[in-house]
Amino acid sequence: MSNTVSLACSCGTVKGKLNVVSKSFFHIHCLCCDCQRFASYLNNKEKILDKDGGSEIFQTYPAFMDISEGQDKIACVQLREKGLYRWHTTCCNMPLANTMNSSTIPFVGVSVKLMQFANEREKMDILGPVMLKAFGQYSVGELPKGAHPRFPISFMPKMLGFMLKGMFKKKNNPSPFFSGKEPVAKVNVLS
Ligand SMILES: [Zn+2]
Ligand SMILES: [Zn+2]
Repeated sequence: MSNTVSLACSCGTVKGKLNVVSKSFFHIHCLCCDCQRFASYLNNKEKILDKDGGSEIFQTYPAFMDISEGQDKIACVQLREKGLYRWHTTCCNMPLANTMNSSTIPFVGVSVKLMQFANEREKMDILGPVMLKAFGQYSVGELPKGAHPRFPISFMPKMLGFMLKGMFKKKNNPSPFFSGKEPVAKVNVLS
């Protein structure tokens, strides 16, 4: 089963679509310090983070995501060398997604803020509940309800299965963030 969700940045310049395919995603909240640092880098914490400092992320395969408008407003930052590629817009400083720093890995963590839903009910019907709140030890206040302090070991086999399936089915490609092996925008590496 799959659903198509429209994507748009908060100013509407960058647009695209995401194919939500059952059993091919993780819907998570990430409270890690890097996601918070990324929001600070974008100077847009209020719009990006929830009250706990969490980012809502939809992890799936790059081949399921398409950006059809505003490609010239895509930029990329790496918080440190060899870190994740963190993709964002330059029109409204919103996160787009994170990927590994290689086009060969079938992984993209799409910002749920981009997804256009008619209402909360529709969002719940399509994405389902949040499956994991990870890295709660970095939350702004107390550990949020149901959050794991770090990343639960129990989640690792699921993640590995997801990666292997993605590699087998070559779901790393096409990607809105790589043209062949090359990133579509210059990567700004912070030290
Ligand atoms: Zn994070
Ligand atoms: Zn924008």
